[in-house]
Amino acid sequence: MSRIWVLGAGQLGQMLKHAGMPLNLDIEPVDIESEEILPLQPHEQVTAEREQWPDTAATRQLASHPAFVNLQTFPLLADRYTQKSLLEDLSLATAPWRLVENDTDALALHEALGERVLLKRRTGGYDGRGQHWLREPGQDAVPLGWHQEAIAEQAIDFDEEMSVVGMRTADGHCFFYPLTLNLHVDGILMGSVAPLARLSHLQDEAEQMLAKIMNHLDYVGVMAMECFRIGDHLLINELAPRVHNSGHWTQAGANISQFEAHLRAVAKLPLVAPTVKSTSVMVNLIGVDLNHDWLTVPGAEVYWYGKEVRPARKVGHINFCLPDSAVTKAALDQLQRLLPVNYGEVLDWLRSQLH
Ligand code: ATP
Ligand code: MG
Repeated sequence: MSRIWVLGAGQLGQMLKHAGMPLNLDIEPVDIESEEILPLQPHEQVTAEREQWPDTAATRQLASHPAFVNLQTFPLLADRYTQKSLLEDLSLATAPWRLVENDTDALALHEALGERVLLKRRTGGYDGRGQHWLREPGQDAVPLGWHQEAIAEQAIDFDEEMSVVGMRTADGHCFFYPLTLNLHVDGILMGSVAPLARLSHLQDEAEQMLAKIMNHLDYVGVMAMECFRIGDHLLINELAPRVHNSGHWTQAGANISQFEAHLRAVAKLPLVAPTVKSTSVMVNLIGVDLNHDWLTVPGAEVYWYGKEVRPARKVGHINFCLPDSAVTKAALDQLQRLLPVNYGEVLDWLRSQLH
């Protein structure tokens, strides 16, 4: 049984482990805070479930291993400044932006980017944390401590948000899942649906963009590209050099999940274009307590991460991949009765995408 180490032991690491079992791969997620010496062997591969990590005994040992796949890519994409610069260098469309330097003031950012400017911390932000809006030219300011630590982006008046999850093998073959339509509320992904026939005309553009990035980086494994749709075009919001929340539906909706795809690429096992079964939906469980009654909903595939429940924290997700959208809608109706009232908006949105 070959062993692959994963830097990070959150839900993504756990789901990689789960996906490795049928492939006879021993996947070992490693807690980034661990001080133990790992029995890491020279021939074993290392991958990561996160793009940034603290300097600890465990991360030092993993990051100094010669077979850490994509090691150079992590710092490049973990910093929004170098990530945006990469997109610019590759002539890929992204929200207009500026680096917030030591002497950059809010007025200059408004002049360059418009009335509404979104400051994003260069590193460490997720789920909408690490963002700050400038909305009042002449009256707002770059917050203390954000100079040299942030980029500024023009507010994009997008039609909707979507992502594409792709994969690349060590010998340079790229494959993609169909575009996923995503609903974010307060910066947190709440629900996804894929594939949708009405988005298929954007698939080529999405694939070309992500292929260009993965080829440039000589990347191996799964990468996600979050986009804004503006009319018939895509603008890249951000990249994630790892399996991604918006690809969780592939556990139900494709013959090869994103987790399996990543492992096949890293382990140099055969990888072919995934086959998609039917339209899937994914409902993220954010700050809600585990309810085993979810298991009574026809078609529900529940993933509970076993984490302490806190407000705004991702604690699980539920996938559906049913052959008929009327059946999916009925299942979502049933699920709605088992979720807090604020889920009404998310489930309404999901139902509205199914025809
Ligand atoms: P993630 O959890 O995906 O890493 P994040 O918090 O790191 O997310 P982004 O994905 O950049 O950061 O932003 C979160 C959300 O904020 C986006 O999904 C989108 O809804 C909104 N957003 C981001 N950038 C812009 C922009 N330039 N204009 C308008 N809305 C934006
Ligand atoms: Mg994002």
